[in-house]
Amino acid sequence: MKAVDKSVDPCKDFFQYACGSWVKVNPIPPQYPRWSRFNELQDRNDDILRQILEDSARNQNRSAIDQEIGAFYQSCMDETGIEKTGYTSIKPGLEKIRSLKDKAALAEEVARLHNEGISVFFRFGAGPDPDKSTVNLANISQGGIGLPDRSYYLQPKDEAMRAKYVAHISRMLQLIGEAPADADGQAKAILELETTLAKASLDRVAIRDPKNTHHKMTVAQLEALTPDFNFKQYFAVRGTPAFENLNVAEPDFFKSLNAALQAASLHDLQSYMAWHYVSANAALLPKAFVAENFDFYSRTLTGAQELQPRWKRCTERVDERLGEALGQKYVEKAFGRQAKEKTQQLVGLIEKQMAVDIDSLTWMSGATKEQALAKLKGVTNKIGYPEKWRDYSSVTVKEGDLVGDDQRAREYEIKRNLGKVGKAVDRSEFNMTPPTVNAYYNPLQNNINFPAGILQPPFYTNTADMAVNFGGVGAVIGHELTHGFDDQGRNFDADGNLRDWWTKEDTDEFKKRADCLAEEYSGFSPVEGANVNGRLTLGENGADNAGIRLAYMALLGGLENGSVNREKLDGYTPQQRFFLGFAQIWCSNERPESARNRVRTDPHSPGQFRVIGTLRNQPEFAQAFGCSVGQAMVAAQGCRVW
Ligand SMILES: [Zn+2]
Repeated sequence: MKAVDKSVDPCKDFFQYACGSWVKVNPIPPQYPRWSRFNELQDRNDDILRQILEDSARNQNRSAIDQEIGAFYQSCMDETGIEKTGYTSIKPGLEKIRSLKDKAALAEEVARLHNEGISVFFRFGAGPDPDKSTVNLANISQGGIGLPDRSYYLQPKDEAMRAKYVAHISRMLQLIGEAPADADGQAKAILELETTLAKASLDRVAIRDPKNTHHKMTVAQLEALTPDFNFKQYFAVRGTPAFENLNVAEPDFFKSLNAALQAASLHDLQSYMAWHYVSANAALLPKAFVAENFDFYSRTLTGAQELQPRWKRCTERVDERLGEALGQKYVEKAFGRQAKEKTQQLVGLIEKQMAVDIDSLTWMSGATKEQALAKLKGVTNKIGYPEKWRDYSSVTVKEGDLVGDDQRAREYEIKRNLGKVGKAVDRSEFNMTPPTVNAYYNPLQNNINFPAGILQPPFYTNTADMAVNFGGVGAVIGHELTHGFDDQGRNFDADGNLRDWWTKEDTDEFKKRADCLAEEYSGFSPVEGANVNGRLTLGENGADNAGIRLAYMALLGGLENGSVNREKLDGYTPQQRFFLGFAQIWCSNERPESARNRVRTDPHSPGQFRVIGTLRNQPEFAQAFGCSVGQAMVAAQGCRVW
């Protein structure tokens, strides 16, 4: 109730109505690009993680996990030691790059960098084969740029940003000993090389269509695209299990990569790799590196004013690198069986509603419906944390060696991933760590995943009014389920294979309905001079659009069977409380720099429009708050896909 601003007309702007008072009393802390309910929750989780880590650091002898996460955290917290070591820990890596004799030695060096998780030129790893999703396939794809999106390299309006990027690269190179004039020249050459890679890359909207990135080839065919790069040697150094075919996500990129490798001098290629090497390690190095890295990647690109306190950066680092060791302790401490059972039950309810919803669609043929229902039936639900935990016992964690600890943890993860090539897919794995405040759908595995971190207030509160819970976690469950049927997910079948199960007419109808959403959201502007990209955010907006409908149907069921309180509470009907519960997940404030960056990179719409866009398309919302056609919160022609 404290978040609501009753001076606002709910039919004019429901985000302001539901969140106005929250927005006023929650200015963005200087360390953050934006501040939202998600951040509030993540902060609470981080406090728990900090306690766990401090305790493990003090009691490293207690268990293998305490040693791993405790020593890593301790390495990271040792600011004095880090200052004293300087950048000596990355010097051997830099020297290797600088000692390359000719371009023929490049493949071996790129492989070494990739084994350490340094993203240069392209990416390579294992993932489910879209044609046979039970088996992992080697996959190679575009990469190698340091700005957040290819468009930053290409648009005239970003010239000032590019100048700042070049200045940043130059300063980083100076920190590893380059003379200022040399560093400036190298930085310009690096921008030029990255611009070539950016030009050759597919944009984020094109990548949303899985058919655009599906090209199975032999290694010989890949080598024909990039003859100047010795892929055989590259795969050997990477230690990849033998394979015959791999997926080349963007063949044209690899053609252009060859031209880029020819055009650049060996010295420029070395500078480029050195820059990425230092940049990837910057946050682990002395203050001068940390500050320079923050200045560009946070202050300039997101508007954040201050570094996060060290304990928070270190907590997040351990979560990132040894997430399933830390996560085990988090789950023991903070995740009850009750929350898991309750969520399981809610998921069951929402899935039932989705079947009813699919059945009731007037625009879809019986043949496609049958396939859609089979897909829904095939969805597996994963809740809280993985059945079996990742074992980090082979990772040496040495207190006082942060760069080494981080590198060994990265190498472990990369090796684990590469080792999967040709092997069966393990669908029980989680791609998010347990304390993460988020959830996801995996189209190649047809499963929804809810880490323990999100199963808490404001998404789900055990003691709260169920109408609010349906609007919160209910809508999130509906959202994740719908991802299986959005513009991306609909291309995969119940088994996670890339297979078209739609009739031509139904595909046309789907696209027409999706166009409605794309156009609507493209009209939203979170910050002057920048609009939401309705095509980039189509999947998320569609998932919101249907997710809330499914949760609403579950609410009606609950009202009928008496599991939801039918009385008015705090002056609101259960339907009104449901929509308030939904809207208040998205209460947020965001800096203009962050908003400008995110409309280009983030497939999610800004929180404000997740509320406005979603609810103005729901006749049930208008009904609940007595809004009528012509008011801002009522779309003239409501968009609806599912
Ligand atoms: Zn989503």
